[in-house]
Amino acid sequence: MSKPKILVDCDGVLADLDGYLWDCCLEAGVRLDISSRDEQTKYLLTDHIPDPWHRGAIRDFIDGSRVFKDLPVLEGAQDGMNELSKVADVWICTKPLDTDRWCLYDKRNWVEKHFPEFVEKLILCSDKSMIKADMLLDDAPAIDWIIKAEWEPVVYNQPPNMHKKSVFYDFPHWDWSRPLNELLNHIGER
Ligand SMILES: [Mg+2]
Repeated sequence: MSKPKILVDCDGVLADLDGYLWDCCLEAGVRLDISSRDEQTKYLLTDHIPDPWHRGAIRDFIDGSRVFKDLPVLEGAQDGMNELSKVADVWICTKPLDTDRWCLYDKRNWVEKHFPEFVEKLILCSDKSMIKADMLLDDAPAIDWIIKAEWEPVVYNQPPNMHKKSVFYDFPHWDWSRPLNELLNHIGER
């Protein structure tokens, strides 16, 4: 039997974009309206910056400072991808930021540095519903994609998608600390 094909999102699943931005805000003295990352309810961490000037400055920083080349790897992601690859045909599928012209290049190099075996299994696309697969593991899959796609959406646990008001609250969730079979059991649920 062929292995199931699983698409894995990059930011928020492999790369810790919000963790990086959180540290940048602390270092720059930018105040947020939450005191820990566990309290994040908004998908964009910058939406937790009450001061509009500071919020704009951090967004400009994201767009213009090539942050994607420097992101830390989320804990457990490298071992998790190795283990997942033993039982599934795994592809990284990420939507590049259209406001950062270097994003495509930097994401590709980031994958080469931290997940070298996936350089040739990297899909950069704006609409993940276009890609045929059995599952998408993503911290924020667009609802438009979910409606059209063939794949099963599994939401990667992050604070903004775990609270009761999140649109993703009732979706199946998983993260790298969970057993693999919990993830694989969701294939074919739709
Ligand atoms: Mg993401």
